[in-house]
Amino acid sequence: MSAFFRCPECGQQVEDGLVEMVFELGGNRVTVSNVPAKVCPNCGQELIDGYVAENVNRLVDRVIEDVDSYAKKVTRPPAIPRQITITA
Ligand SMILES: [Zn+2]
Repeated sequence: MSAFFRCPECGQQVEDGLVEMVFELGGNRVTVSNVPAKVCPNCGQELIDGYVAENVNRLVDRVIEDVDSYAKKVTRPPAIPRQITITA
């Protein structure tokens, strides 16, 4: 599991928490909420495990593919960026 115990920025001991990851991909903004991470209570630094980040990336890739095929069937005003929120 994680080897992160101290904040690389300030050295404070980090705590378990849930964070948001935001991706900007091809005009889509995808927000992934409830991503498990270590959070520094001192400076707010967020540390996300490599395997967690990898899973989230895969999830986002899948969602983007789905959204792109969906978007072909639906006409949307192009000026409004799509906001997608998914939960890890
Ligand atoms: Zn810190």
